[in-house]
Amino acid sequence: MARQHPTIGGRQRSGAGSGPDAHAVRAFLAPGHAELAAAVADFASRSLRGRLPADDDATARREARELLGLMGDAGLFEPIGSLDLRACCLTREALAAASPLADAVFALQGLGITPLLLMAADELRERWAVPALKGELMSAFAMTEPGAGTDVASMTTRAVRDGDDWVLTGTKHLISNAGIADYYIVFASTDPEAGSRGISAFLVPADAPGLRFGEAQVMSAPHPLGEILLEECRVPASHLVGEEGHGFKVGMATLDQLRPTVGAAACGMASRALEEALDHATTRRQFGQPLSSFQLIQEKLGRMAIDLTAARLLVYRAAYDKDMGAERITTEAAMAKAFATEAAQRIVDDAVQILGGRGVLASHPVDRLYRSVRALRIYEGTTEIQHLIIAGALIADAEERRAATGGEDGGTEEEQGGAEAEAEAGAEVEDGAVEERS
Ligand SMILES: Cc1cc2nc3c(=O)[nH]c(=O)nc-3n(C[C@H](O)[C@H](O)[C@H](O)COP(=O)(O)OP(=O)(O)OC[C@H]3O[C@@H](n4cnc5c(N)ncnc54)[C@H](O)[C@@H]3O)c2cc1C
Repeated sequence: MARQHPTIGGRQRSGAGSGPDAHAVRAFLAPGHAELAAAVADFASRSLRGRLPADDDATARREARELLGLMGDAGLFEPIGSLDLRACCLTREALAAASPLADAVFALQGLGITPLLLMAADELRERWAVPALKGELMSAFAMTEPGAGTDVASMTTRAVRDGDDWVLTGTKHLISNAGIADYYIVFASTDPEAGSRGISAFLVPADAPGLRFGEAQVMSAPHPLGEILLEECRVPASHLVGEEGHGFKVGMATLDQLRPTVGAAACGMASRALEEALDHATTRRQFGQPLSSFQLIQEKLGRMAIDLTAARLLVYRAAYDKDMGAERITTEAAMAKAFATEAAQRIVDDAVQILGGRGVLASHPVDRLYRSVRALRIYEGTTEIQHLIIAGALIADAEERRAATGGEDGGTEEEQGGAEAEAEAGAEVEDGAVEERS
């Protein structure tokens, strides 16, 4: 068994798994969180690590549905229902270390259930969110389109009111769980002139007339992804999630809430990669010595541990703030997501390097991690967009302070007016950055 490390958390060797290190982020956790982390890790070790990883799209689709039931039976989706963000992060960290696909199943339940919990009418919540929380229904979140990725407001999917129904027309692509979900949270424009303020969110059952699964979009790390075609797809007016024109808010509130969990998943993958690298470095001998005796390898291990620890602190700081009642954690979540996903990419890459040729064999866990971790820097808002969000908040803050003090020398009245206008522009920068998605 590997030695427990005081700050990076030790897992048992050979992937048995002792789970996320609650001690290292204890300042941000509440009573019960450490036990939850251990219970999820135990589930992962017993129920996930022995399963054969899905190596093609069809298997990944079947496996995702099976995992949904297993995870639902184990009560794993409960933290989504209680909006306990730290528990969601611990769960994703433990799942991602064992099975990126199981982590994706959890993530997608979060994306499909959270909008209902935050904004939907009781009736929709009861009918769809409650069974989804038990793993009886699979959900999906359909925002991205071929022509509208980061620039969400440019979406062309339209929803038109027709009597007691809404009729949706358009194409969504890069949608996780496309073709296997029981329902989709679909974003569509109800007022094209109004940009992001004209977007509304709808719950669309998979069997709604006019909804069709298009093509599977096959990834190198198998994950159910694909196109959803809406061809005059009809849903009752009661399936509007939140108010008409508030879809963008629904989407951004959901992403704000869940973005730190993407960072947590990255930490789970990174900690597994570090564990595999340590295992290899301490057992593999070259030039008559273990690899771990070479300082160039030690430098990598040290850097990996620093990156992982810093990433975890940012992730749990953001989740803590939200759980403590912060109305928005936009900047904290952006920092957590950007840093953790970029750091995880570096850590996994270093692990591959330490493994040498074995690290690029498709059957090796670090090769699977290498393929899985890449997408985290893209979905739920790319790294570039997280940087824009953070910079937007910084600029707005600086402008506001300058406006409040009237500049260093107080400035003339005219100059002060200019500063206020700039501060307003700064606020718009922040809004604008946030508007550039997901
Ligand atoms: C595995 C996976 C799962 C996904 N699941 C879902 C899902 O379930 N539901 C869903 O709706 N979507 C999903 N997506 C889509 C994902 O959210 C988008 O891929 C993402 O928002 C980026 O959009 P895009 O791919 O169109 O890239 P683009 O928006 O075209 O961006 C391309 C590049 O340009 C950069 N860029 C864009 N605008 C700017 C700017 N203003 N300044 C600087 N750089 C910029 C981006 O950062 C990126 O590097 C998924 C994607 C992946 C990879």
